[in-house]
Amino acid sequence: MDNRCTPISDLTEKSHDWMIKIIVMEKSNIFPAKDQGSLFQRFMFANEKNETIQAIAFNRDVSHADNKLQLYHAYYIGNASISPITDARNQAGSLPYQLTVTKATFIKAATNAKEIQFEDHFPITSFWQLDKYKNSDVDRFNILCAIIQGFPETIIPTARGPRTIRRFVAVNPECRPMIFTMWEPFVYIEGIQLMNMIHTNPVILIIRPKITAFHAIDITTRPNTTIVLDPPLQQAATMKIWIDENRSYIHKVINEKLYEKDKQQPVPPLQTQIRPISQIISSTPQMKHFWIKGMPLIVNLNQRFFSPTCPTCNKSTGALMDVEFDCNFCDSKNKIPRPKAKVQLNITDDTGFLSITAEDRHAETLLGFTGSEIYERYLKQDPIPIQRINEELQRQTLLCEVRSYWPPQRQYTPLYFLTAFIPEESAGETLSDQLAQTTPPTLLTGPTSALSNTAEETVSDTNVTEIPASSTSLLAEMSSSVKHNLEPDFSQVTKHQKLD
Ligand SMILES: [Zn+2]
Repeated sequence: MDNRCTPISDLTEKSHDWMIKIIVMEKSNIFPAKDQGSLFQRFMFANEKNETIQAIAFNRDVSHADNKLQLYHAYYIGNASISPITDARNQAGSLPYQLTVTKATFIKAATNAKEIQFEDHFPITSFWQLDKYKNSDVDRFNILCAIIQGFPETIIPTARGPRTIRRFVAVNPECRPMIFTMWEPFVYIEGIQLMNMIHTNPVILIIRPKITAFHAIDITTRPNTTIVLDPPLQQAATMKIWIDENRSYIHKVINEKLYEKDKQQPVPPLQTQIRPISQIISSTPQMKHFWIKGMPLIVNLNQRFFSPTCPTCNKSTGALMDVEFDCNFCDSKNKIPRPKAKVQLNITDDTGFLSITAEDRHAETLLGFTGSEIYERYLKQDPIPIQRINEELQRQTLLCEVRSYWPPQRQYTPLYFLTAFIPEESAGETLSDQLAQTTPPTLLTGPTSALSNTAEETVSDTNVTEIPASSTSLLAEMSSSVKHNLEPDFSQVTKHQKLD
């Protein structure tokens, strides 16, 4: 029968009288479709050369397909309808086609000629390699992680109406905890399953997630993501041992919210990701997230270097600093504003300059003063020493991650906000030296004095990477055992972490 089979890669929408021999490598739950009353189930078929093609069953064919096609079993499949996938975001397999499985589709069990190498089918990407996938809808990669905390379901407005999401905290031995946002329809099945067993810290394989920048860096589901609970991978077993041996680290991630934006560490961009400033200014449409490299300088001397901010939600307020106000963003009442450090500065490279705004910890690190210190000086009419700060700033080149924002009332130029920065080089004993010593991963903590007054958000740079010693050897062991599955610089990146 095998000699009657066509290679998967030969299939096109014009194929007829064909048969392929495949293994079912992915099988989703039966999900409700967006329009009421209809159902669908997704599959991924792979051949021995690891060519893959996605398949789907709808409505009354779902239970048939669900019964016939068992996960990790081999089958001959023939004459399912083949439709081309025109939008790359929807392509999950290696071929831009999708099979539709119905009761008329030929399905016959086959014997497995070769044992399945799961590690080859699902190479795992390091958490430290995810930055390059930020906001991409087309890159396909896999993540292995343990889920250690779940938050209540929430409904959020989107352009296509309200959607239900649930956020989780995902960790792995690389100590870069992240928020994992699960969207419909996964929240209805996988979300409930995970919540029911959250106390066991379940290990999951996330196939084809998307990486976003909402919490600096985080994981979300895409419509064609597959979530595999307890995947049959050697690394999954190793990760369970790691979890057991690192309970105190897990508690620390939860208690100190190490997954939050403020506590995440930026990863330097690839050289090719750094944009000339002239390109940013002339780009249409405006780039939303980008890296630039240049010299920082405070040019606008008429700044207050702080702005009144809601102490609960951190949003700006027009209230006077000494007047109680009701926040319109979070509904908290009778609050006295908190002085948030804020600085507008120019970043200049060979091609031009960009005026960007840094806030909170970024501003405190650049200025060397906390928001409260700046406000106290303002009250005493003792301005912060801008000239001295500028001298320090000019001694360094900063790699800046910037987000652009186009407020409705602004017509010609967007606003630019600093979302992360890394000093690239320095001369003498400067602020950047102190920062560079911890590069990577802790870059933005800054002088301890800069944090002494932010009672609710106190961070210390030792918190971020402190982890029980026993995990270090395990991590090394794990990274060597999975090396062939990871991208080449994985082991290099883990070395940089200096876990002990
Ligand atoms: Zn508020």
